[in-house]
Amino acid sequence: MQKKAIDAPINGDFTNKNILSIGQFSKKDIDILFNEAAATEKYVKKYDGTDLLKRKRLVNIFFEPSTRTSSSFHFAMEAHGGSVKTIENVAFSSVAKGETLQDTVRALEQYAHVTVIRHSEMGAVSVAAEVAQNPIINGGDGVGEHPTQALLDLFTIKQRLGHLDGITVTMVGDLKNGRTVHSLAQLLSHYGATLNYVSPKELTMPKSYTDPFKHKGIAQLEHQTLSGVLPKTDVLYVTRVQGERFLDPQEYERLKLTYTITPKVLKDAKKDMIIMHPLPRVGEIDTAVDSDPRAAYFEQMRYGMYVRMSLLALVLGRSIQK
Ligand code: ASP
Repeated sequence: MQKKAIDAPINGDFTNKNILSIGQFSKKDIDILFNEAAATEKYVKKYDGTDLLKRKRLVNIFFEPSTRTSSSFHFAMEAHGGSVKTIENVAFSSVAKGETLQDTVRALEQYAHVTVIRHSEMGAVSVAAEVAQNPIINGGDGVGEHPTQALLDLFTIKQRLGHLDGITVTMVGDLKNGRTVHSLAQLLSHYGATLNYVSPKELTMPKSYTDPFKHKGIAQLEHQTLSGVLPKTDVLYVTRVQGERFLDPQEYERLKLTYTITPKVLKDAKKDMIIMHPLPRVGEIDTAVDSDPRAAYFEQMRYGMYVRMSLLALVLGRSIQK
């Protein structure tokens, strides 16, 4: 099959496309994916899994640590009856012998039909996509994007709140280095959301992600504290300060717990708000919040499996609905 331009818009057809950036998705594409995810959820709840991707193989190449994304893609492929090889520790792979990213990807895709890549450098997944024959899915590229996380975040919001239009989403923490919020902000711009960006001044949301949708008239407001913002928030999206991106360990120590969400902090929040986090958390949400019915961060992971199952199916030209 002939592959399209590396970051071609989905434009209603996921087949054989790379999934590199949220910029490839229109509202219609998101609807297609979410309809598939809702149908997949129903099917899996009834039958535990499907045979949709039987005899299809996924290679998961993780150049940077991951627990959730790699296992989520793994279980997603298996739940569709496909098989998976995950290469997590590149220190034990040929990369340690000096092999280039391009060669690693081109070699491993010979065994499989689709490739998921995580890399510590922004843009590295696109570099791999330039030489790859199989569809490449970005599993997080450094401080760049994490499109599949944003898609599962949005699906979680839809399932929990029942709608997506006109909501107020408050993103808190390391908005500079957190790739999940870079993708999520772009995605939410399709729905007329109000976006509050709460961060220390050193870790503000980069304009390169928000300027492209400025023309849509989305309210984007920067804050340094949560007070005043919380009572109007529908989704509180908490992120970890990304220690691995800091050159100065002391600066990380100083900033890492600028915000901690505790039951006390939440007393001014709406009763029907939801609290999300892409995980792992390292102290920014107190475990006492876990029993709050508004906490959605573990559920987010379950929805993630349905969204990733759907993405794998659609990219491989299949649908549970046919
Ligand atoms: N798991 C998410 C990511 O890979 C969030 C995080 O690591 O803080 O970006």
